[in-house]
Amino acid sequence: NFRCRSAFKLLEIDNKFRLLQPGWSVVDCGAAPGAWSQVAVQRVNSARTAEGDAALPHGTVVGIDLLNIPPLDGAHFLSSHDVTDHVTHTKLLELLPNGRAHVILSDMAPNASGFHEMDHEKLITMCLSLIDLAEKILQPGGSLVCKYWDGILAHKLQKKLSSVFSSVQTLKPNASRKDSAERYFLARMYRKPVKG
Ligand code: SAM
Repeated sequence: NFRCRSAFKLLEIDNKFRLLQPGWSVVDCGAAPGAWSQVAVQRVNSARTAEGDAALPHGTVVGIDLLNIPPLDGAHFLSSHDVTDHVTHTKLLELLPNGRAHVILSDMAPNASGFHEMDHEKLITMCLSLIDLAEKILQPGGSLVCKYWDGILAHKLQKKLSSVFSSVQTLKPNASRKDSAERYFLARMYRKPVKG
């Protein structure tokens, strides 16, 4: 039983791309109420309940939200934390094994004002901040999945992602309402930017 229907979007993405492997570390941004984290816990085997194979490695799931996230076996939650805040980044470095995540997930969304352009810009800004987070915690070769609302700045985000990930594609899961502007970027094969 999932806490929220959004779980089906991540299941669909992961069934197709196999981003979440047993033993891996995942950061779930905008995690409340926790449905994506439930999927991540199952897939990386962080609750140590993988059916059949007791030898499967155990992963790590850390979820972050401004709101409270009810506890979940196998997940460590940072409730009342802002993903864009440095304090949060420091805590992530401590919680993740070797301070590294294999995958960053983001289903974050600002409170919608109803003004499409404004909401779009806000969400794109939040997504751009994930690129800074990636630089601190994402394992080279790692992946990022982030929700955005389509609009004029989507290309800017795609370009920035393409500068540090070898592969970037747009996804519209079937579980996402057809008439919504909701999309996901799947960015794979992270390479840390070279500072000159
Ligand atoms: N993926 C979640 C699930 O499956 O249960 C649903 C996420 S919900 C669509 C979006 C969440 O993003 C909200 O709970 C909101 O509080 C959170 N959020 C928005 N801005 C944030 C920020 N700066 N830091 C952390 N969380 C944020």
